[in-house]
Amino acid sequence: MTGAIRPLVAGNWKMNGLTAQLAEAQSVRNGLGAPPPVDVMICPPATLITPLMLTLKGSGVLVGGQDCHSEPCGAFTGDVSAEMLADAGATTVIVGHSERRAMHGELDRIVRAKAEAAHRAGLIAIVCVGETAGERAAGLTEEVVHRQLAHSLPDAATAANTVIAYEPVWAIGTGLTPTAADVARVHASIRERLQARFPGEGARMRILYGGSVKPSNAAELLAIDHVNGALVGGASLKASDFLGIVAAYKA
Ligand code: PEP
Repeated sequence: MTGAIRPLVAGNWKMNGLTAQLAEAQSVRNGLGAPPPVDVMICPPATLITPLMLTLKGSGVLVGGQDCHSEPCGAFTGDVSAEMLADAGATTVIVGHSERRAMHGELDRIVRAKAEAAHRAGLIAIVCVGETAGERAAGLTEEVVHRQLAHSLPDAATAANTVIAYEPVWAIGTGLTPTAADVARVHASIRERLQARFPGEGARMRILYGGSVKPSNAAELLAIDHVNGALVGGASLKASDFLGIVAAYKA
């Protein structure tokens, strides 16, 4: 963990969660007890942002969106703008998740426009980067991640408005994780790039690790240098698992 950086543990519910799922969020709220030494966030489907915000009100647990359009409003059927997420109670939005990149053809320039939209709306952007299994096998991990960082991050990114999530695509939802040494190497290289491009800010930007984080591996992953928290998919759907990950910071 990097000394002065306050970690963030963010749960991405993806396209999971009807109203009944709010009970899990209530259990997260109840189970946290004393305020944890980290920021805790849940990113539900857009339909649950407002009810989740009401469920968590006063708890300190933050609410985020999973994606946004780059425009504030207009003829974009089915899309949700950053302003709408903010209006609904979100403080943050994930952009460039690998599922969006792969299934919706989101290129780096689109991710960048979405991050800029998040900033315009006063939201923190969690910008996701990460290599595929094929890219990893070809020894291209750093090259891919550096390219995504270069083209997906707005020039106006600061430690306050931007979080990076390093998520190896092959580790998402598979139960596989990189070795601690691999995570350390990639996170250190991300830190170097951030410091070079954003003097004064890059040293303080949070870099989350994401990909099959669960209670049993959280302590090891979250203790790695330049790992400033986690982006959690599957394990965020069950309060006990999510709390088990947050608890890695109390250990
Ligand atoms: C994710 O999709 O961001 C993710 C990290 O998923 P999981 O934790 O399920 O691997």
